[in-house]
Amino acid sequence: MSDDPRPADRPAPRNADGETFAAGARVAVRLPLPLTDAYDYKVPDGLTLAAGDFVRVPLGPRRMAGVVWGKGAGDVPEAKMKAVVARLDVPPMTDEARAFVDWVAEYTLNPPGAVLRMAISVPEALEPPKPLTAYRAAAPLPEIRMTPARERVLAEAADGPPRQAAELARAAGVTPGVIKGMAEVGALVPHAIAPFPPPDPPDLAKGGPDLSPEQTVAADALSAAVADGFSVQVLEGVPGSGKTEVYLQAVADCLKAGRQVLVLLPEIALSAQWLERFRARFGSEPALWHSDLTMAQRRETWRHIAEGRAGVVVGARSALFLPYPDLGLIIVDEEHDGSFKQEEGVVYNARDMAVVRAQLGKIPISLVSATPSLETQANVDRGRYRHLHLPARHGGADLPDIELVNLTKTPPQRGQWMSPPLREAIDGTLSRGEQALLFLNRRGYAPLTLCRACGHRLQCPQCTAWLVEHRLLQRLQCHHCGYQMAPPPKCPECGAEDSLVPCGPGVERLAEEVAALYPEARVAMATSDNLYNQRTAREFVHRIENREVDLIVGTQIVAKGYHFPMLTLVGVIDADLGLSGGDLRAAERTYQLLYQVAGRAGRAEHPGRVVIQTYMPEHPVMAAIAAGDREAFLAAEAKGREDAHMPPYGRLVGLIVSGTDEAAVDAGARALGRAAPQGNGIQVLGPAPAPLAMIRGRHRRRLLLKAGRGTQVQPIVRDWIRRAAIPKKVRVQIDVDPYSFM
Ligand code: ADP
Ligand code: ZN
Repeated sequence: MSDDPRPADRPAPRNADGETFAAGARVAVRLPLPLTDAYDYKVPDGLTLAAGDFVRVPLGPRRMAGVVWGKGAGDVPEAKMKAVVARLDVPPMTDEARAFVDWVAEYTLNPPGAVLRMAISVPEALEPPKPLTAYRAAAPLPEIRMTPARERVLAEAADGPPRQAAELARAAGVTPGVIKGMAEVGALVPHAIAPFPPPDPPDLAKGGPDLSPEQTVAADALSAAVADGFSVQVLEGVPGSGKTEVYLQAVADCLKAGRQVLVLLPEIALSAQWLERFRARFGSEPALWHSDLTMAQRRETWRHIAEGRAGVVVGARSALFLPYPDLGLIIVDEEHDGSFKQEEGVVYNARDMAVVRAQLGKIPISLVSATPSLETQANVDRGRYRHLHLPARHGGADLPDIELVNLTKTPPQRGQWMSPPLREAIDGTLSRGEQALLFLNRRGYAPLTLCRACGHRLQCPQCTAWLVEHRLLQRLQCHHCGYQMAPPPKCPECGAEDSLVPCGPGVERLAEEVAALYPEARVAMATSDNLYNQRTAREFVHRIENREVDLIVGTQIVAKGYHFPMLTLVGVIDADLGLSGGDLRAAERTYQLLYQVAGRAGRAEHPGRVVIQTYMPEHPVMAAIAAGDREAFLAAEAKGREDAHMPPYGRLVGLIVSGTDEAAVDAGARALGRAAPQGNGIQVLGPAPAPLAMIRGRHRRRLLLKAGRGTQVQPIVRDWIRRAAIPKKVRVQIDVDPYSFM
């Protein structure tokens, strides 16, 4: 073990097989394009290549970066074969990383090149650093002709670090030409930006708190795993039981061994409190990877990781594909979280793929949750994953009391959303000077706007979805495609004036009710509309911690991970919201969400209380939450799934057929229906219109393949698609292990 744990000081690992390709040899180069095959290229004079090397190659008239995948296949005639242009000055892609690309491609039924594209998500990082120019709004602003586009640019460029033109254009939704024009007239000022330094090495001498005996058992088990090859540890414990403290010890052990750590977190941009704890413990910043990074940050971070200069990487799901030279440990926090599933492009579940990545790298992985998914639980039951349990809250704090309010018996007043029992609980909390969270998992003011005169509902022109009113922005928005419009002055259908009324509550409407009922209370909203990056999240956290807020009105964005010592009451406005729709995991997900929200209430000195409003107090989810009986609920859920041969006791693959031409989409869906595989316990449901029958103007049909748990579904689906005559302009997206059935 070295004293300085920085992985940078170790030699970059060469590839295991060590095979090299001398001048004149053929190599197979994979390109980050949706291609199944690697292409053959000749190694030019003066160059020796090895598998994993990043190279630039000609492709038609273009040149592009790719990766040497191995020996060439030899199917291109010598005379037609082009030569590699150059090897790029980047550490090579490891054997594990390449095997991972191929594995994910095979599993998700995508061309390997499409997966490689996720691993080369920052092509700029492969090039030598260029001097970068970034822009900020001029102050004072010169007199310029204003347009809505220019106003948006100025709003974006007004604060924060200077941003590069392309970045700024994207953020403001304008063309790069707008940025250029504004720079020419002096409204934007150029700044030369320096490349970012790598993160400071973590201070491993600091150490964490003294762990309790139960925590020590779990931490020792994780630490032992760090030295011991591939294994999966499930770390389960109620919110506040110290899971984070426990896994941070394993993180420290892995860093001491000089290897890198990946921590996957949902909603990483918002994990303000997590980052503060990391800083407190290690005296440094981890490398962050999420959608809120600037292009320059992305480039630098990618390189720091590739060069082994970033010890700990914290990221959203795509961080799985970063170029770790020496990954030693993966942590998946909130492993049950649905946001680990990527639903567009290459459809994959980062939690599951992280386990594969760990296996290929022969390293341990910890899946952390207060409510592990049934999939993970089943793997524990089958003896494949090891289970570690933290039974109690740290410091002996009690779990909150959870009570159900039956809305059929004690409804709120007409036009309101908070029932008398919840109002009483809020009164008590406020009078004690404590804080309450009112949870409603719906953004905006109202989910539906309808005409009182003719019954017309305002719908997205491109999607099968209602427009959601956002009163603060004075917009109607589609949450599926981003379409928006100003609220119309009269009904677009019948022309009646003042006839459009909001139906149902969103958080904005709830906040309005709260303000009317508690005019003295200081109210903070917490939704993705106002907490959208690290800065806004950090400010929010500080306001709550400094007790500048009495009531929080929030969506699921506050359900995760936050600890506020003075927050003693959680009110759930509509606990039934996630149960409609009949989705396979609706009950499980609702339980997880309610449990997690409930976990925000009460800490050490201040006991918590949770009031859950429901129309279905008898529903098994509500009964289990109220009784604190997770075991019985899980057992029943598992039994139901097992009887129905549903995951994790059966396999599912979703096929989504889509296109702008409805007749062609139907033809494609029918062709797939006719070619449906049979036998071996396979069942194909559909084709049927998807619940979201249209998104962004594309018509959608679904098919669902069901198979036994042991079935290898990939060859079956590949063969199925090959046999169906699918019209050219129709796309078929494959979703192995689907989470969304919309
Ligand atoms: P979880 O991840 O299970 O929600 P955390 O690790 O965040 O739990 O712990 C909850 C709170 O208790 C945190 O503020 C943490 O610092 C504190 N804590 C947990 N274990 C200990 C310990 N052994 N000594 C001191 N504080 C602890
Ligand atoms: Zn839409």
